[in-house]
Amino acid sequence: MQKVNFAIVGYGGMGSYHARTLMPTESERLNITGVYDIDAARLEAAKSEGFETYESFEAILADEAVEGILIATPNDSHKELAITALRAGKHVLCEKPVAMNVEELDEILAVAKETGKTFMVHQNRRWDPDFLMVRNMYQQKPIGDIFQIESRVQGANGIPGDWRHLKEHGGGMLLDWGVHLLDQLLWLVESPIKSMNVDFSYVLGDPVDDGFFTYITFENGVRAIVEVGTSNYTKLPRWYVKGTEGTAKIDDWDLSGEMIRATNAEGVSAPTPIQAGVGLTKTMAPPSEEAMEKIAFPSSEADFIPFYQNVYEVIREGAEPIVKNEEVRVVLALIDDMFKQEAI
Ligand code: NAD
Repeated sequence: MQKVNFAIVGYGGMGSYHARTLMPTESERLNITGVYDIDAARLEAAKSEGFETYESFEAILADEAVEGILIATPNDSHKELAITALRAGKHVLCEKPVAMNVEELDEILAVAKETGKTFMVHQNRRWDPDFLMVRNMYQQKPIGDIFQIESRVQGANGIPGDWRHLKEHGGGMLLDWGVHLLDQLLWLVESPIKSMNVDFSYVLGDPVDDGFFTYITFENGVRAIVEVGTSNYTKLPRWYVKGTEGTAKIDDWDLSGEMIRATNAEGVSAPTPIQAGVGLTKTMAPPSEEAMEKIAFPSSEADFIPFYQNVYEVIREGAEPIVKNEEVRVVLALIDDMFKQEAI
């Protein structure tokens, strides 16, 4: 097995996570030749952690041993770094969001086509166990056909870091967590979008969105809410999913929650009315015990290979990428539409 040699550009939070944690899981297939960061302190950190370092981006491009680069820099720098590397004959793995908008992405894809080099985007949350549970639920139908999906991440720590607060660097939460949640949703539902409404939040006073709420309907009838918040001191479940025969709720990344299916049993007794506030209700009373059953969540295993294994197979064996550039483009086009809707 001839390893693929990668250099990492940007040794901040994510670049260092790739170097220390993600790439080593595929050390039989991938090798890190070294790291470059414009910040000397980050280069020192990389050195002290045992990585070779490059003194410039150009030094990476000039290193013939380097076959690919991983871009883990702020969002506004992805396009130029990617195009320069592709033109220098390197494969490129790029962090999400792939670029600031579809126009930029199209420029990158044109150069990838022209040079014949691989260009792939790290939309890695397709491998998240909570998402895989929902995907398996969607495909295996333990609660019938899923017609409503609510996907949320909510924190109370505001927008992290420095450049994420600035528009010119591609800051804000839609270009951050938004990319992941929309990528998961579109890959799951596999249907064109019929309508989309979005509302951004600016409660923290930054010039970029600190969260958003979007309602999307799909041509196949599925509807979805996607929400990101950074000032939520108590939060809603990570996933709330309704099917024609039941309901599921995944509370958090620890995969806690429950899935309830209607038994449709014969002779189920009617629910007993309950006191609700100052009134009485039968409609909102819990269903009788025989009417529902708690069932186990589907597996959270992926039925497809890990990201970096796929990267290796795409580069060495011409395999199909799991994260396809056409799909990346659809997600970015949706994000463009969301920003446009905000501007109206
Ligand atoms: P960060 O600020 O922690 O790190 C960015 C690093 O890039 C810094 O060390 C900075 O000095 C360096 N840098 C900036 N411009 C550079 C240039 N032109 N050349 C070389 N180095 C440069 O940011 P981060 O959180 O690591 O985010 C980096 C990228 O990774 C972003 O695109 C972000 O969206 C993405 N990201 C992805 C995930 C994921 O789960 N896929 C998670 C976090 C971040």
